[in-house]
Amino acid sequence: MQSQVIQQSAVRQLESEIRSNIAKLLVAMTICCALIEIGMGLYFWVSQTMHQTPSEYIVFRILQPTVLNALLCLLVFAANHSKEHQDRFRNRVAAISLIVFAAQISWVHSYFIPMWCLSLFALMYVSVFHDPFFQRIEAGICLGSIGLSCWQHIADYPEQLSFSLQCLAVAEFVGVLIIYMSFQLESFSRKEFLLNAESDAGKRRYQSEYEKDKLTGVYSRAYLIEQSSYIFDNCNEFSPAGIAMLDIDDFKKVNDTYGHDNGDVVLQKFGEILNSYNDGNTFCGRYGGEEFVIVFKYGEPKMNCDTIEELRADFEKASFPFMDEHVTLSAGYYNAEAQTDFDTALKMADDALYISKRSGKNRLTVHNKAEAM
Ligand code: GH3
Ligand code: MG
Ligand code: MG
Repeated sequence: MQSQVIQQSAVRQLESEIRSNIAKLLVAMTICCALIEIGMGLYFWVSQTMHQTPSEYIVFRILQPTVLNALLCLLVFAANHSKEHQDRFRNRVAAISLIVFAAQISWVHSYFIPMWCLSLFALMYVSVFHDPFFQRIEAGICLGSIGLSCWQHIADYPEQLSFSLQCLAVAEFVGVLIIYMSFQLESFSRKEFLLNAESDAGKRRYQSEYEKDKLTGVYSRAYLIEQSSYIFDNCNEFSPAGIAMLDIDDFKKVNDTYGHDNGDVVLQKFGEILNSYNDGNTFCGRYGGEEFVIVFKYGEPKMNCDTIEELRADFEKASFPFMDEHVTLSAGYYNAEAQTDFDTALKMADDALYISKRSGKNRLTVHNKAEAM
């Protein structure tokens, strides 16, 4: 859930960057278009090839498009900085402004027929906003803009009517094809997004099942071994590590007397207590059945044994609604002061646990190296 929220905010951040890029692009293009029109106007005027009067050229080719472009820029900036509107609205304003901008270039330069399809490039670009409903409106504007460009072309060159209409048919056909492809792209990228989201959720679920023991909520055996092996591989006399093996006393009796389900409740309670001891020094996991392991990253025997005794006392104090007696646990502790593999360290702690069990249970035994030798 949390990572879904993070993913959404990353998407919002990305969209905001795209909107801001569109705003900058519009400003740059407005300036470029105005300069190009002024330059071309000067060239036509000097070479005396201008088809309009200079005042008509200034109004229709320079002032009108520049004012429209400047308005589009203002619109995008205002929407981007408005606090009242939602992101979807801002996306739509940016998308429509870019398309109208491209469309107006194609109307103004309708004499250059390939320009008629310019707004379709803008349409492809703004499909990154993944707004299928609005994409249909944008597609309509693009097809309309091709029609308007043709109309402008016919107005400028009435003698080329038949040619203009042929170009219109081809351009509209190309437009429909491109729009169809952009819709397909949208649908595929949406499916891909959903597939990725599903597999991310699957991986997360798998990961959490792998890391945690389902019943007790402490780390699983596999994860415990994976994480702890490194600690024991790297310990030495200056940075020792500790390991404790814990086993609930007479647990079979609890199961036999109160039922397996109530036995599970005892295990859950123990998991809860054990988890409260998971901190910077300890790493607690279920090794199997009613056996648990605590790995101590710092091998301070006194401190670690105090922790185990505290934990034993906490568990012994726990009461259960289905029984009057208290449940106890036995423990064995081993302090590794040289590089040891995890299994060997665990075996040492288990040997110490065996001594606890043999000498009356409900106690902690520290592995004695001298005795072991
Ligand atoms: P000891 O004091 O010597 O440890 O005796 P014990 O009865 O605790 O030990 P034993 O190994 O004989 O029995 C462990 C029992 O734990 C047997 C098994 O049925 C039970 N057990 C193992 N896993 C689970 C579980 O997930 N839920 C429940 N309810 N019982 C379990
Ligand atoms: Mg056991
Ligand atoms: Mg037991």
